[in-house]
Amino acid sequence: MRLGALEAGGTKMVCAIGDETGKIFEQISFPTKTPEDTVPAMIEYFQKADVEALGIGCFGPIDPDKKSKTYGYITSTPKLAWADYDMAGAFERALGIPVGFDTDVNGSVLGEVTFGQAKGKSCVIYITIGTGVGAGIYIEGRLLHGMLHPEAGHVMVNRREDDKYEGKCPYHKACLEGMAAGPALEARWGEKAVNLKDRKEVWDLEAYYIAQALTGYILTLSPEMIILGGGVMHQEQLFPLIRNYVKEMLNGYIKTEELKDMEHYIVPASLNDDQGIMGALELGRRALVG
Ligand code: ADP
Ligand code: ZN
Repeated sequence: MRLGALEAGGTKMVCAIGDETGKIFEQISFPTKTPEDTVPAMIEYFQKADVEALGIGCFGPIDPDKKSKTYGYITSTPKLAWADYDMAGAFERALGIPVGFDTDVNGSVLGEVTFGQAKGKSCVIYITIGTGVGAGIYIEGRLLHGMLHPEAGHVMVNRREDDKYEGKCPYHKACLEGMAAGPALEARWGEKAVNLKDRKEVWDLEAYYIAQALTGYILTLSPEMIILGGGVMHQEQLFPLIRNYVKEMLNGYIKTEELKDMEHYIVPASLNDDQGIMGALELGRRALVG
């Protein structure tokens, strides 16, 4: 199968050609400008590559409900040029091939479950902590949509007493994204996140907020594995801190084999940052085979 994959992000659009085994033959990225600028270039790329189907993992919010009139649209995004844009439809019409469409983070969790460390598991959460915080949820063997799609990056967290930062989310101020995404970190500490590596207090507080959200997801969804990706998680010292806080917050309440082995339960992404684009290949394959 010759498949196209598109990981559509707020700053860049990563396009790749690959196959159903997750192999990527070639890849290119375009800066995210307006649909009029960016989409024709991508269409041309996929046309030349002669792909049989395309999968799109897209920044949101999006409409992934196949029964909806606005299925395939990017909906109320703050990136106004893309608001109410028929993303899947634009590719479907121009290329005349099946197009799979889901959130970027659902794409990532699908990549990990199909090709990565979560292969064979049926309940897995992928969380990205970068410019924003988002979560893709694979549950009982399916990507979770529900009434829209999960927006688990915006769950509320309890402020730690010594933290005076008000929070950056325009909707909730001190939700997880407002307290722990890259821009919140940088606003709180007045420094680029990469330059904060040696400041222990920065990562301790960061882990404290992330762990609160993970504890909530564990209690609600009972995942078999939690995968953390995104720019901020390149700070690998966060992992042991997060695992310890989660253990502390659960306080022995849940007793499973998974939680006894935290190092294999709360883990970094396993596909060299290709989980999103590989997941998009699988979205394309699924669109083709139905
Ligand atoms: P996006 O979320 O836009 O797709 P990223 O996941 O790369 O992109 O996230 C970008 C954010 O991650 C930036 O706001 C920056 O603060 C943070 N970031 C990027 N690289 C690092 C790093 N090595 N260490 C800590 N934070 C980082
Ligand atoms: Zn929020």
